Amino acid sequence: MSNNIESKVVLITGASSGIGAVTARHLAAQGAHVAVAARRTDRLDALVAEIESSGGRAKAYALDVTDKAQVESVVSAVVADFGRLDVLINNAGLMPIRPMAEVNTDEWDAMIDVNIKGTLYGIAAALPRFLKQQSGHFINLSSVAGIKVFAPGGTVYSGTKFAVRAISEGLRQEVGENIRVTSIEPGAVDSELKLSTTGTAQQTVLDFYKQAVPAESVARAIAFAIEQPGDVDINEIVIRPTRQEF
Ligand code: NDP
Repeated sequence: MSNNIESKVVLITGASSGIGAVTARHLAAQGAHVAVAARRTDRLDALVAEIESSGGRAKAYALDVTDKAQVESVVSAVVADFGRLDVLINNAGLMPIRPMAEVNTDEWDAMIDVNIKGTLYGIAAALPRFLKQQSGHFINLSSVAGIKVFAPGGTVYSGTKFAVRAISEGLRQEVGENIRVTSIEPGAVDSELKLSTTGTAQQTVLDFYKQAVPAESVARAIAFAIEQPGDVDINEIVIRPTRQEF
């Protein structure tokens, strides 16, 4: 197998469900060594057991991406356990949709902490290692809401995903010589993300997600970015259900 995925060490944050879990399975099936991280370790342990029973290599790490020290220690543990880190997928995310007028600053804080700061902490932990080894690949989960403002209700979520996209592009410009940076911008994807909307917009979100495509669609896009030759950087992938208008 020579797919430029085999034997790569890939750390995926938010791998206990949805896009992260499906991507871990997909990459492991292609020979990647996957480090899966999230808070719900029971889910991660089941995922690791499943990957190992199919002949893959995987290891679980308890991680809250809002804790900078935890992110650094997980990246450090992955390098110790697997010998290196080749790809960091900053995937952990939350999407509590709610009109601005309801002023729920706890939800705003949570989205900023997980979606923006969690991604930055991942970059902070992996970048010095990538610079030292003069190779590495950041794959950051933005959203179509990082291209178009998702209002009413998704204003702060959109703000965080615009930030992820801007940070990805700036990082690419700053460190791009041997380090690849990819921003993935999905539309509606079937996962648990819709469940983080618990307020007045809940039914609207559930209705919007009736058009969702399976998380495998994003996993394939991520694999496409990784499998390119090292001198080719897929900078952005926008991926929507065909029937999605937004
Ligand atoms: P899920 O809700 O299924 O998965 C989100 C993951 O993030 C979970 O594994 C959760 O794990 C993890 N997570 C949440 N908070 C933290 C935290 N503090 N520390 C560590 N992990 C955390 O959603 P998706 O798979 O859909 O979302 C993955 C990414 O894709 C997100 O960034 C999302 O914004 C983005 N995206 C998704 C779209 C969609 O329609 N589904 C569309 C566009 C972008 P745990 O709770 O165990 O910690």
